[in-house]
Amino acid sequence: MSWLNEFEERLDRLDQGALLRRRRVVQPLAGARLQVDGCELLAFCSNDYLGLAQDPVLADAVRAALPVFGVGSGASPMVSGHSAANADLEAELADAVGLPRALYFYAGFATNASIVPALVTEGDALFSDALNHACLIDGARLSRARIQRYGHGRLDELASLLAASPARRKLVISDAVFSMDGDVVDVAGLHALCERHDALLLLDDAHGFGVLGPQGRGVLAAAGLTGSAASPRVLYMATLGKALGVSGAFVAGPATLVEWLLQTTRSYTYATAAPALLAEAIRAGLRLVLGPDGERRRRHLQGLITQLRRGLGPGAHAALTRSAWRLMPSETAIQPLVIGGNQAALSVMAALRERGLWVPAIRPPTVPAGTARLRMALSAAHTREDVDRLLQALYDIASTVPAASDGEAAPTDAAEFRPAAT
Ligand SMILES: *Cc1c(COP(=O)(O)O)cnc(C)c1O
Repeated sequence: MSWLNEFEERLDRLDQGALLRRRRVVQPLAGARLQVDGCELLAFCSNDYLGLAQDPVLADAVRAALPVFGVGSGASPMVSGHSAANADLEAELADAVGLPRALYFYAGFATNASIVPALVTEGDALFSDALNHACLIDGARLSRARIQRYGHGRLDELASLLAASPARRKLVISDAVFSMDGDVVDVAGLHALCERHDALLLLDDAHGFGVLGPQGRGVLAAAGLTGSAASPRVLYMATLGKALGVSGAFVAGPATLVEWLLQTTRSYTYATAAPALLAEAIRAGLRLVLGPDGERRRRHLQGLITQLRRGLGPGAHAALTRSAWRLMPSETAIQPLVIGGNQAALSVMAALRERGLWVPAIRPPTVPAGTARLRMALSAAHTREDVDRLLQALYDIASTVPAASDGEAAPTDAAEFRPAAT
């Protein structure tokens, strides 16, 4: 039998483990609502934290760019794909994050997967947080440098690894805001360790840029490591498809390092440049983000985060207290509620969906086994009433879940349940 026949069995095994993923065809509606399979759902699954993805200002920028630039860029930025729009965007991004230079990429995944191998190689050492995003992990593997993983947020462990490393070139890679947990890295602590051990630090601020720091300038600005205090040993990467509402990514840092990345990053050289009309939309989004409109959106988002956390906090509701569900300690727009088992998480997701709410269940391998969770993502496009609706639905569903007995761990798949209202 040909090995090609194994794929069907492998898919069956994924299905049996409740690990098969299904896409939905969605149509955006106003106010964080989506048309999905003919029903309207209130969505808590987008990374569009400031509600810019549907903003008319960005759409107008695209319309204005179209007759000037056309649709496609036609070539790599190294050939003829580098438009005036893309060049202006790079200058404005560098300015926004207070770093000397920035390079604009068509996607965040391709950026990290490719800049890590451009920085280190065989014989070098890489230090990676255990919960880093898949694209940093892939970049690390591609580099062929020696990968040393440290426990999530364990700077003490990182310090020992750095101290013990005989490698001359050391690169520390970390998410700034962890995408499935929502917690923020200790930027100052990481930077101090890199200083002490002559290491380079690459921070992925996909979920922080636009939202965190003064004017949404990101975690480096929040840590005071920008402008005249910019560090020669930090590369800052962020994406433009989340809070900025469009797509793409950039990496910013010391001019020499960015020039090196421009010369050697394969996903930059050997890929078609991002279309100028997207660059124009991002420029329009960036102006909003840095201005009073962005400030208003961030304040509103912060209010929603507080409201949700209070509503799911200790003593907020008896059924929640009895359940084994656990709200993770996040202060960002990413608010994960750990359910435990894969099937249990899917069941809660299904029960929410019956109530017109869409909150994704995140399962292994995206998160560690036994920690399947609802990843609630808040956006400035939500209202306080939207968050109330989510809270009420979670209270209702929690009342149908078998109570967790004292000292019992979060339920595993053996303890799965079916929502009452099916
Ligand atoms: C989304 C994400 C990326 C990938 O960015 P894309 O532009 O969507 O390819 C990279 N890193 C982190 C932490 C992310 O959450």
